[in-house]
Amino acid sequence: MSLSGKTAVITGSNSGIGLGIAHEMARAGASVIINSFSDRDEDHAIAAEITAKHGVEARYIKADMSKPDECRALIEQAGACDILINNAGIQHVAPIDEFPAEKWDAIIAINLSSAFHTTAAALPMMRKAGWGRVVNIASAHGLTASPFKSAYIAAKHGIVGLTKTTALETAREPITANAICPGYVLTPLVEAQIPDTMEKYNMGRDEVVEKVMLERQPSKEFATVEQMGGTAVFLCSDAAAQITGTTISVDGGWTAL
Ligand code: NAD
Repeated sequence: MSLSGKTAVITGSNSGIGLGIAHEMARAGASVIINSFSDRDEDHAIAAEITAKHGVEARYIKADMSKPDECRALIEQAGACDILINNAGIQHVAPIDEFPAEKWDAIIAINLSSAFHTTAAALPMMRKAGWGRVVNIASAHGLTASPFKSAYIAAKHGIVGLTKTTALETAREPITANAICPGYVLTPLVEAQIPDTMEKYNMGRDEVVEKVMLERQPSKEFATVEQMGGTAVFLCSDAAAQITGTTISVDGGWTAL
């Protein structure tokens, strides 16, 4: 599978799943745009490492996915966007009646609305190029719910709906839109949930991992960032040209329960 000649823009890709996807896209030959809201030397170094490792062009562009203008500017500054991976995401865990309104707004903006803005900016470029792939990183929580994650679950269900609409609006064109629904992947986002969950359930770390996080993941293993990247590369392949408007679960059997 060669993605040589394609440019992949991956939102929220200086860490975790986004970074894993960037590496797999680059391994397949795509040029990659790395993004986050910070502008540290380390962010630019990530792009340089990808170029050194995979021999492709890689660039870091700072853009805050909570801001509509910056979402659209990211795509414009990329100059090309054959593959759009909407991955940026944050989490907050609290019961609905204690859930801070500003956290709700931030999660909806970053995990859902950003994908609307980047997709709106990218589709004209894909149409001009005559080929495009939109891959939205949803979650098992885009298909099922858990307590204390109201904003995240609303946003992830929302992005599954946005994926379907994007697919229908592009169905007659060589453009597809799909969502990957990961189960638990051990990334900084998941690490950050462990202390709160330990407190909420009055458990130690190992117990939280085994009994809360992997409780619903029948494989009892975390999925990996490389598996997310491999799935995204597959969705960009010719074999996936008729796969559109759907979700692919990479969740160790979570949603089969
Ligand atoms: P992570 O915290 O490692 O990465 C999140 C990325 O989003 C980072 O690169 C961060 O810089 C970026 N980001 C956050 N706010 C941003 C903003 N305002 N503007 C631009 N970038 C921003 O987390 P992760 O686990 O790799 O999560 C990536 C995606 O995968 C998220 O959408 C998450 O919901 C989804 N997901 C993760 C898991 C999991 O178990 N880790 C499971 C299902 C879905």
